[in-house]
Amino acid sequence: MLKNIILMGPPGAGKGTLAKQLKESLNLVHISTGDMFRDAIKAQTELGKLAASYINAGHLVPDDVTIGLVKERLSQKDCEGGFLLDGFPRTLPQAEALQEIAKEISRPIEVVINLDCDNAELVRRISGRRVCKNCGAPYHIDSMKPKVEGVCDLCGGPLYQRKDDNEEALKVRLEHYVSETKPLLDYYDKLSLLKSFNSLTGKEILFDEVSSYLKK
Ligand code: ADP
Ligand code: ZN
Repeated sequence: MLKNIILMGPPGAGKGTLAKQLKESLNLVHISTGDMFRDAIKAQTELGKLAASYINAGHLVPDDVTIGLVKERLSQKDCEGGFLLDGFPRTLPQAEALQEIAKEISRPIEVVINLDCDNAELVRRISGRRVCKNCGAPYHIDSMKPKVEGVCDLCGGPLYQRKDDNEEALKVRLEHYVSETKPLLDYYDKLSLLKSFNSLTGKEILFDEVSSYLKK
């Protein structure tokens, strides 16, 4: 089985949803830099205060901050059995740093799963997205409703709309994706690590396709 996985794709492509499914079924550690920053913001730490100023406007948190955070997380013992990176790397310096870190800790990246999605659908997904305040599980007001309105199916936590899930911040996030993150597809393709999937097929089909690919 392939482990040590990177999930890539534009905001709204379904990385978080897929990560939660894969984590359960394959017993991998889920590392979402977005979730880590949101936890820091909730806990009002120094990191949180710094991150909030970038995140709420749709900008990327500076590379040195993000790289340091991921390096520390990946070095922890629970990542030995395999990890799922969700939202990292997002820039070329991050990708290069990750190659170094992976070498240092002898946990090489084995595959990069890329989720393709069209822009209109991204906007629809993000503008209707609700997230659990406790566990980060994603929902959608039309197409992925919780059983009880406003309440997380998984943990009972309250659902809320992220500050950066508005039209203005989303526009900025998509621009960052195109100029800084999308070029990484080429980078990983050259390393023969890239495998793309169409995320418009729906989350169950996507999950089946990706799982079978990872298991072969
Ligand atoms: P999405 O994939 O929906 O855009 P994430 O939860 O992955 O959202 O990230 C939310 C925000 O956190 C990003 O817009 C960015 O500001 C910050 N962030 C997350 N990961 C990174 C990263 N690798 N580098 C820089 N900023 C990041
Ligand atoms: Zn929850």
